[in-house]
Amino acid sequence: MSRYFDFPDFPADQSSAHVSVPRNELTLICLLAITDCYKKQVKAARPNSACHRNRRINVGDGVAIEARDVSKIFGTSTDQEVWALDHVSVSIAQNEFFTLLGPSGCGKTTLLRLIAGFEHPTDGAILLEGEDISALPPFQRPVNTVFQNYALFPHMTVAQNIGFGLEMQGRPKDEVADTVGAMLSLVKMENLKDRRVDQISGGQQQRVALARALAPRPKVLLLDEPLSALDLKLRKEMQLELKRLQHETGITFIFVTHDQEEALTMSDRVAVMRDGEIHQIGSPQDIYNRPNNRFVADFIGESNFLEVQLLSRNGSTAKVRFANGTELDATLPSTDVTSGSITVIVRPEHARLTADRSAGHLQGVVNDAVYFGTDTHYYLTLDGGEEFVIRQQNQRGDRGKISSGTQVGVTINEDSIQVLAN
Ligand code: ADP
Ligand code: MG
Repeated sequence: MSRYFDFPDFPADQSSAHVSVPRNELTLICLLAITDCYKKQVKAARPNSACHRNRRINVGDGVAIEARDVSKIFGTSTDQEVWALDHVSVSIAQNEFFTLLGPSGCGKTTLLRLIAGFEHPTDGAILLEGEDISALPPFQRPVNTVFQNYALFPHMTVAQNIGFGLEMQGRPKDEVADTVGAMLSLVKMENLKDRRVDQISGGQQQRVALARALAPRPKVLLLDEPLSALDLKLRKEMQLELKRLQHETGITFIFVTHDQEEALTMSDRVAVMRDGEIHQIGSPQDIYNRPNNRFVADFIGESNFLEVQLLSRNGSTAKVRFANGTELDATLPSTDVTSGSITVIVRPEHARLTADRSAGHLQGVVNDAVYFGTDTHYYLTLDGGEEFVIRQQNQRGDRGKISSGTQVGVTINEDSIQVLAN
């Protein structure tokens, strides 16, 4: 893979060479006041001393970050305890674009803060390339964070913001200038380098925040809902931009979002979280097409849920019988699913209407049809009483949508029925 920039003389032991971006502007202002003192601390913390070497634990090659059976409990007394993370285990590969996806309050930020070192696990360990870093403070971790509010220094220029962390590390002036130049070019901000950051747009500030976090070349970049303050058009642009930056730098990105579409379009893999637990980890295709439980299926896109009988199973496929007697093949999740009454899902775009009722796998009546230009959504009630949605692409020459009250058949695409674990 091509790399946009290189740091040939970057210390081999990066575990002690980084400054983490502070959490908010207030912290940043305090930080400015103690810059000199902080510089000394960072310098003092830099030697490749054995005292920061932690026990080495064997993990598979190519793992950048691992959370091993991590729990985080906030609150002191038992009745105030919040299990922000409940026995979470995940391995994130080097050079991966990995996304934590889940509703607000599910523990995404907490997991990022544990990786960054702003919080420490109640139980379990955080490993970087196999080394337990749970006890290391943030500035000794080769990890940087891009926050939702960017946390830039408003009175500094674009270039000064980008170079700030490097200067704090005491890097030589010409090296700082070279890296700032490379970063400005990477985020396409060369022409605004001398502008103060309170005089540029939100999207441009986002780029500066990214450039500043990438400048010390962290091994892992943490991004906590970095696009949520941008309007839709800019967000789409920045999604592509982030993908490009990750590809060109080769740095592991751990991205947090509650937006399922953002997660599916940007990620190599996604972890779907709820109530402090990871429900499923997989590629966007796995997560969308093979959700292993109802929460994941419901959270990621629209689904039809149907009760069926499991007749037999053979490895990862099963024969299921629908209420009308139709028997079809379905895919099983990896977890055990017993025989008897189970739930399957069918995505709305994986089924089609047919005018010939008897030719369909299922039968029903159209209640409503909504035209969207590229496709039409049909809302049906099946003969068994279940609600069912079909999203059908419109073709040039279609004679118009099927009107409500029409009796129809429903054909389900092969290999698109998924059994849910619960
Ligand atoms: P997310 O980022 O997914 O929205 P968080 O990781 O911020 O979720 O929070 C997970 C849970 O932990 C929430 O219930 C939240 O209220 C709680 N929590 C987070 N930080 C603290 C804290 N410092 N003290 C007490 N509870 C916290
Ligand atoms: Mg959060």
